[in-house]
Amino acid sequence: MLRSRVTLQTRMRAVDLIRKKRDSGELSREEIDFLISGYTRGEIPDYQMASWLMAAWIRGLNRAEIASLTEAMLYSGEVVNLSDLPGKKVDKHSTGGVGDKTSLILAPIVAAGGLTVPMISGRGLGHTGGTLDKLEAIPGFNVNLSLVDFRRVLGECGMGLIGQTAEIAPADKKIYALRDVTSTVENIGLICASIMSKKLAEGIDALVLDVKTGSGAFLKREEDSIRLAEVMIETGKRMGKKVVALITDMNQPLGRLAGHSTEVQESIDVLSGGGPADLRELSLELSAWMFFLGERTKSVDEGRRLAESMVATGKAKEKFRQGIRLQGGDERVIDNPQLLPQARSRVDVTSASAGYVAGTNCEQFGNALAMLGGGREKKEDKIDPAVGLEFRKRIGDRVEKGEPLVTIRYNADAKLAEAKNLIAASYQIGENAPREKLPLVLRILGA
Ligand code: URA
Repeated sequence: MLRSRVTLQTRMRAVDLIRKKRDSGELSREEIDFLISGYTRGEIPDYQMASWLMAAWIRGLNRAEIASLTEAMLYSGEVVNLSDLPGKKVDKHSTGGVGDKTSLILAPIVAAGGLTVPMISGRGLGHTGGTLDKLEAIPGFNVNLSLVDFRRVLGECGMGLIGQTAEIAPADKKIYALRDVTSTVENIGLICASIMSKKLAEGIDALVLDVKTGSGAFLKREEDSIRLAEVMIETGKRMGKKVVALITDMNQPLGRLAGHSTEVQESIDVLSGGGPADLRELSLELSAWMFFLGERTKSVDEGRRLAESMVATGKAKEKFRQGIRLQGGDERVIDNPQLLPQARSRVDVTSASAGYVAGTNCEQFGNALAMLGGGREKKEDKIDPAVGLEFRKRIGDRVEKGEPLVTIRYNADAKLAEAKNLIAASYQIGENAPREKLPLVLRILGA
């Protein structure tokens, strides 16, 4: 359908569509189809797509344009049909944050609990880490499964974690990588189209969205995160899916560790019944909603109890081990996380004053991590999976002058001083403890 619409419009030119958006025009469905299909096929070059993305970022996209963009990106590839696999298919997607590793925890929990989790994820984007890059910290782990292998893995163990491919959501694969290095990430329409095109291509029945808000999120203001959640819920429901969105706090990193190897390690800790309380709580909450939407439980509370029991009985950890093995990874990391790439050196960033942690500029932690090799500045850049940050102080904690705030794990020291300064400047130390503790889950939409 897409192709015939496009051939009717053979005289369309990318340069005109860039100008139209630059001048605040509204693009028609045909014009958006032309851009997305042309770019996916390699007929429109990166520089024109990058210009259009920047124009869209600045001028914004209205609801009709967002719907057209999402559908053009979705139908740039196949929509997987998983109806031959038993039971409901459910997924979760986060809008991105620092230390946000819940996918690695909840996919095994929910698969162990009897649902199928066909998860298509992304790489690092802007200051946030990506699930695919984290999984690749596990030696041998293959996120580039063919559709045939993806189905086989899903059939065997109930979970599969892959990236966008030439077959599934290819437009997002290309546009995502381009947005990462052209400062065109933080836009409601572009985020909605990126997330929903991948998720709707997976053949799922239901989707739980974790929409972050705060200094470490792409959208810092809660009202913007709510708007994004509403647009994504509307998109999912239009396509016949059950969707809920949890608006969750990202004013500080999730868990104690950020960085690829370290996040795998922390995920294993949670699956083993330990790990930091905030990460455990959010992972269980998101799993509970997945169980409920997937009709595995009658209530979210029952879903939470099921999620807890999957961890307590060790079934979720064993599911992660099986998933790693089936995707070619070294499953021994489950019992011996030292087999994950380890950084050679460590150094503390200490506090210049005494007081209480009043807040953090959380985005800068992600930028510091990238500066040390844990992120990309250009599409071709390779990530150093061993680089990591260990957060020693959280909002509300007492801190003494000279006490460590963060321990950096690093290999190359070229930008170490700059990263240390950035991290130190990202902690706000006040005289008094903050009056109230912000809840982790701020609100739930679409329930
Ligand atoms: N996650 C995605 O998959 N895409 C975005 O644009 C932002 C977060």
